[in-house]
Amino acid sequence: MTFWAEATYWAKPSLRSSMGYCIFCDYENAIRKEHMVYEDADSIAFLSKKALANGHVLVVPKRHVESITELYDIKAFLLLIERIADAVSHIMDANVINIQITHGEVIKKSQPHSYVHIIPVHQRELGYFEAMPNLAIEEMDTIAEKIRKELV
Ligand SMILES: [Zn+2]
Repeated sequence: MTFWAEATYWAKPSLRSSMGYCIFCDYENAIRKEHMVYEDADSIAFLSKKALANGHVLVVPKRHVESITELYDIKAFLLLIERIADAVSHIMDANVINIQITHGEVIKKSQPHSYVHIIPVHQRELGYFEAMPNLAIEEMDTIAEKIRKELV
């Protein structure tokens, strides 16, 4: 088993483990396909449902880890974050990109699965994050498509 295959192998068992359900391990069912911006053997990236700004992306290791320090290749994951942050910055014309590593529960009653927020910030918004729960789903589809194309 190769390093990468092993990383992928570990993504599935936690879905049905005794620890309970994990929404990120169930990403194939839980995430709208049009909102995916990136996928490889070890990671996925998609637009946040609870975006703090247009173009707010979550980068998630497929392997169920409570801390990204548990990843086999943390450098590769950090390079991916940087690559996606650059794409989001370009597509959303952001002044700054905020990157946040999240620990703990993803949602109530879900298992802890560490992930990273990439949040584009514009000068007018600096220091003023407000949830944007009413983004049109079609608008999100368009943004995700632009970021996907930027990452090709
Ligand atoms: Zn998980």
